[in-house]
Amino acid sequence: SALDTIERRNPELNALLSTLPEQALRQAAETDARLAAGEPLRPLDGVPVVIKDNQCLAGTRTTCASKILANYTATYTATAVARLAAAGAVIVGKANLDEFAMGSSNENSAFGPVRHPLDPTRVPGGSSGGSAAAVAAGMCLAATGSDTGGSIRQPASFCGIVGVKPTYGRVSRYGLVAFGSSLDQIGPMTRTVRDAARMLGVMAGHDSHDATSSLHPVPDYLAELDADLRGWRIGIVREAFGDGLDAEVSAAARAALKIYENLGATLVEVSLPHLSYAIADYYIIATAEASANLARFDGVRYGYRAPEATTVHDLYALSREQGFGPEVKRRILLGTYALSSGYYDAYYLKAQKVRTLLRRDFEQAFEQCEVLVTPTSPTPAFKLGEKTDDPLQMYLSDIYTVTLNLAGVPGLSLPCGKTRDGLPIGLQVIAPMFEESRMFQAGRALE
Ligand code: GLN
Repeated sequence: SALDTIERRNPELNALLSTLPEQALRQAAETDARLAAGEPLRPLDGVPVVIKDNQCLAGTRTTCASKILANYTATYTATAVARLAAAGAVIVGKANLDEFAMGSSNENSAFGPVRHPLDPTRVPGGSSGGSAAAVAAGMCLAATGSDTGGSIRQPASFCGIVGVKPTYGRVSRYGLVAFGSSLDQIGPMTRTVRDAARMLGVMAGHDSHDATSSLHPVPDYLAELDADLRGWRIGIVREAFGDGLDAEVSAAARAALKIYENLGATLVEVSLPHLSYAIADYYIIATAEASANLARFDGVRYGYRAPEATTVHDLYALSREQGFGPEVKRRILLGTYALSSGYYDAYYLKAQKVRTLLRRDFEQAFEQCEVLVTPTSPTPAFKLGEKTDDPLQMYLSDIYTVTLNLAGVPGLSLPCGKTRDGLPIGLQVIAPMFEESRMFQAGRALE
């Protein structure tokens, strides 16, 4: 069924960059055989899953939607992907994304934009737009995304599905092509909160291949899923319900808050006083880390090599000039500038200090409540081309999401309503570090 849907809808949506039909059918047959033999099923046996194409799967292309990696075949498998496969997941394809996960609309892919499954004139969000569209269109039951500054949660909200950015260190980054290493996390994108809890349970946990992966034990998210919210304090982030928020998004989020009240929770208003600095802070730290991480694409070790280069300098310069798209170049330039001597103190060092202030904002907010709630994105899915000429407008669509990556805390986006035009609206539930269960419980209560 998933493969049929892919065949029918992918030419229009461009959600997947590659598919693995033979492998998937073989695996599905193996699952049938296990069932027939009465063997116990593993947590994801028979579940069709799509992997974002910045995560390695040995023997298959991993392009990061970039010309520079267009012909790169992964030599090993990302830990999170390997864990899904070991749990029985049937990997049906690799999803389109903004080049190197840099973007909020999936229009920065070297292989063309992804279209919104409900309205092809609109974007699915980004950078995990292919993953979100694939889940929403029924090409799979779950997908992986990566979230450096909202890239799982914002497309999940645009496409009307559930998306989770885990606590930093909860899921191994081994085999995820690095963008901003201190911000990046792989996470699940699914139709329901229950499915997301199941996926994260499989993907999470310590991995000796990633020094930043946590030893914190992984709870049984599924067993803890249904909770009584009576007595919970739900923190409404004051700054997230102010200027720039679309009226319909605000109304849908407020309606969800009403449901929490009806379930016996108390609403408390809390403040993240430094929220207005988050976008600026994120775009200094993320670009600085990206400029260092992307230095490895030099035309020598792997990926695209400019054919006409005759000197070493030309080999680097031409391969990078021809291989990277405009947004990636913009990020490398911004990051290199922020890290250069003379500007380092004014930008990068300052940004690190602001990051600490943001982290403290969350610590203080969580003294007053169990979870925090904001809209996921200030607007619903926008039109293709609407923000491509104005990077700042595009960056602002991440205002509520990037803060979590800077602080390291987990967040979940789930559908909380629709606009008059039928476009999905997402609500973001935020929990303290390693308290993903709380976030699943609060999300589950709204379904
Ligand atoms: N939209 C943000 C950016 O362009 C977030 C990207 C991400 O989370 N990978 O950097």
